[in-house]
Amino acid sequence: MTDAGEVGAAGADVVVAGAGPAGRVLARECALRGLRTVLVAPRPDARWPATYGLWLDEAELLPPGAGYVVARARVLAGGERWLERAYAVLDNDSVRNALTHPDVVVRAGRVEEVTAPVIVDATGARSRGGVEQTAYGLRVPAPVAARVVRPGEVVFMDWRQPGTGPPTFLYAVPLPDGRVLLEETSLARRPGLPFAVLRERLLARLAEHGVDPGRTEAEVERVRIPLDAGASAGAGRVVRFGAAAGLVHPASGYGVADALRLAPAVAGAIATGGAVAARRVVWPARARAVHRLRRAGLRTLLTLDPDQTAEFFGLFFALPPHRQRAYLSGRDDLAGTAAAMAALFGAARWPLRRRMALRR
Ligand SMILES: Cc1cc2nc3c(=O)[nH]c(=O)nc-3n(C[C@H](O)[C@H](O)[C@H](O)COP(=O)(O)OP(=O)(O)OC[C@H]3O[C@@H](n4cnc5c(N)ncnc54)[C@H](O)[C@@H]3O)c2cc1C
Repeated sequence: MTDAGEVGAAGADVVVAGAGPAGRVLARECALRGLRTVLVAPRPDARWPATYGLWLDEAELLPPGAGYVVARARVLAGGERWLERAYAVLDNDSVRNALTHPDVVVRAGRVEEVTAPVIVDATGARSRGGVEQTAYGLRVPAPVAARVVRPGEVVFMDWRQPGTGPPTFLYAVPLPDGRVLLEETSLARRPGLPFAVLRERLLARLAEHGVDPGRTEAEVERVRIPLDAGASAGAGRVVRFGAAAGLVHPASGYGVADALRLAPAVAGAIATGGAVAARRVVWPARARAVHRLRRAGLRTLLTLDPDQTAEFFGLFFALPPHRQRAYLSGRDDLAGTAAAMAALFGAARWPLRRRMALRR
């Protein structure tokens, strides 16, 4: 534990705690606006261990030099459908470098007591044993995965179930190093589905495809994302940002794109109006309302059996692309989110509709 003096925060306009995607992008945006910025994390130069995916139109928010793999995405949910929006998988090292600004002072430590006028808490999600997304993945050589996913392609969701049990889907994406991540995901469950169960389901699924990752140098990725965090912007001098602020989509677990999208405006607000102004940018009233609707969507998902889950996503990805985009990426698009949910409700058969109606 290190205090502000030890981490060298004295004299800073803003101290950003946390060196994940959210902390890095916000620190850069603050420095670009001439704010004296200190970035503090226990191991600020540690590599990001997660595989980050987002839509290509969102990856394009990254600064020059940030690399990513682009792929066409398909969904299997009661049929196969190619998605209009291209997908991107981040090359973490180049993204981290691109988000590094030379004027940001980087310190190893933890922020406990600091004197800066604005302290950004970008220290990530806190798991409270609530609803979680969990996933178990294997990074394998591309030829090993070829029967599941071809080069230049992503399996965004394959809802065919590998046996009985709670619904899980396969997520398969090309990695920047040429390998492929094959990941069995439990979208939302309280508590999160254990990794051992996910591993078993992944291996059963791959066996059905004739894939034996046991024979390869597979590397494991474990994912645990709390999904039911409330909107929380901080208080006093503290501005929360990224997963620490609850900026993770409750029904998908995605959060990187919103950090990229919001960082310029949050940094601008810090520069002109301090912590109070920045908090208004992080969680304006409309975004809070959208968050509540998305959490209602999450509550519906928790009640669905495997067949209904596949039906739900089959219908969702059959919606017009602008409706899909509104629900997945429109964090303050209240009308668009409500319209997407209404369209889904209208398209559903009665048993699924009843579930959706009960959870509003
Ligand atoms: C394995 C995994 C995979 C994910 N995949 C995706 C994805 O594909 N797409 C997507 O959009 N979202 C994804 N998410 C969800 C979410 O977007 C990520 O969690 C994202 O990393 C959030 O960024 P962050 O910077 O807010 O937090 P984090 O990345 O968690 O970073 C938090 C930072 O704070 C530091 N820290 C912790 N405590 C302190 C302290 N007291 N003082 C100073 N620093 C501290 C940590 O060391 C770390 O550097 C994923 C999450 C996980 C866990």
